[in-house]
Amino acid sequence: MTTSYDCLVIGGGSGGIACAVRAAGYGARCAVVESGPLGGTCVNVGCVPKKVMWYGASIAHTLEDATGYGFELDGIGFRWGALKEARDAYVARLNGIYEKRLADTGIDYISGRARFVGEREVEVNGSRCRADHVVIATGGYPTVPAVDGAELGITSDGFFELEHCPARTIVVGSGYIATELTGMFQALGSQVTLLVRRDRLLRSFDRMIGDELCEQMRADGVDVVTRTQIRSVRRASSGLLVVDCDDGKTRECESLLWAIGRTPATADLGLEATSVGVGDDGTIPVDTWQNTSAPGIYAIGDVTGRVALTPVAIAAGRRLADRVFGGMKGRHLSYELVPSVIFGHPPVGSVGMSESEARAAHGDGLKVYRARFTPMYYAFSPHPRPCEMKLLTAGDEERVVGCHIVGLGADEMLQGFAVAIRMGATKADFDDTVAIHPTGAEELVTMR
Ligand code: FAD
Ligand code: NDP
Repeated sequence: MTTSYDCLVIGGGSGGIACAVRAAGYGARCAVVESGPLGGTCVNVGCVPKKVMWYGASIAHTLEDATGYGFELDGIGFRWGALKEARDAYVARLNGIYEKRLADTGIDYISGRARFVGEREVEVNGSRCRADHVVIATGGYPTVPAVDGAELGITSDGFFELEHCPARTIVVGSGYIATELTGMFQALGSQVTLLVRRDRLLRSFDRMIGDELCEQMRADGVDVVTRTQIRSVRRASSGLLVVDCDDGKTRECESLLWAIGRTPATADLGLEATSVGVGDDGTIPVDTWQNTSAPGIYAIGDVTGRVALTPVAIAAGRRLADRVFGGMKGRHLSYELVPSVIFGHPPVGSVGMSESEARAAHGDGLKVYRARFTPMYYAFSPHPRPCEMKLLTAGDEERVVGCHIVGLGADEMLQGFAVAIRMGATKADFDDTVAIHPTGAEELVTMR
């Protein structure tokens, strides 16, 4: 027997659940198929457990700073296992909340792996379902390189399974995950070597960000090695991993973590049974409306290869449901000016163009404002960390086209500025806004 729905969502992660809940709110009969725990990457092996670890690492840094404020902290210990246990329990609670939300909104939750068997028909656990509208929201999984012994390493998924903090870790990569997990490992007790294959970190961001973070990571004791790749990995009789690198060096570690990007989960979806087009990199190309090349089949979130962030997947899913089931014809997500934060130590906030992108787009019309200062918090710290900011403006009216912050509070500072920039704020608008004192954020409205 085939069960029929108005809307069938494959993938119960950030995008899929948001889309189904919004569609059900319009009265659509919906189902969500999920092969793993509900909540997807973000809740189980992404943003949520990562942010817990970031808070833990931030506390470790605060404890270093505390002596400058007169605290005497003898005998302080840290139990990674205790943090993991609390974190896992928190995630399990969220899984339950998601399941309840689906039940409360009348959405059928089908636990199993979906595979297309026809244009808008899938098979799960031997049963078939079809729908007028099918949403592919299958996300992705961490990429492991084709290097001898690569399977001896872990990925971000494995990071969340670690029961203790490895004494020595090698992290490979140069994007969000490599930067964030390096900072957490180092702060929580591991000695980290970060292997970057090219000349710098975070190449897709404004150059200031990677340069500044790299400097501050090194000040924290991270061994950042650029222009180096791993040739092979083996396990020594000591149990340690031995890593041969193309700089001629052999490095040893207890744990090796690959953070070199993610692969879209499309390979075993049975897309050959449909007319959905797939890119060479496994992503599903979509138009402005999240339409794939097959009528009635849409894709949202990481699987589309466009701005792989939770709020983007959620916004795309909700807008798609608004359009298809809520009668909002023009509703779609603009992928411009999406703000994001890298939860490093210190954190980074970035929205809009990098300086090189703005230079290419606006030429001599570009103006660059910079500020570098030590936040007052660090006045008493044995480990002061500078804060660096950059504002990019374009044209005679000096519209703000980029805003980049590396430093204390950047993570919470950016959201409001992103609203202003999205609304077309100019440098004069920033200057006309009365500062909040004493804060780091006030530097953004007092730049000369
Ligand atoms: P996912 O959340 O990945 O959900 C896809 C779901 O589909 C999965 O649960 C999967 O099991 C399921 N699935 C796959 N194939 C099938 C199938 N055939 N049948 C049934 N189910 C299937 N983003 C942020 O905005 N902020 C952050 O701080 C942040 N931190 C991150 C940290 C890490 C370590 C990682 C890995 C990612 C992080 N992200 C962050 C990115 C964010 O997690 C993703 O952008 C987001 O989860 C994408 O949502 P999605 O719905 O597209 O896919
Ligand atoms: P990213 O795309 O951020 O970075 C991966 C980088 O690794 C590449 O850009 C590349 O940099 C480098 N790389 C690729 N292949 C290799 C290789 N074989 N050897 C060495 N280095 C390699 O991917 P992540 O895995 O870090 O994260 C995936 C996505 O998840 C992010 O893009 C982001 O959208 C999301 N995310 C968001 C977070 C947040 O919002 N805070 C946190 C974590 C993830 P180069 O070309 O410079 O060498």
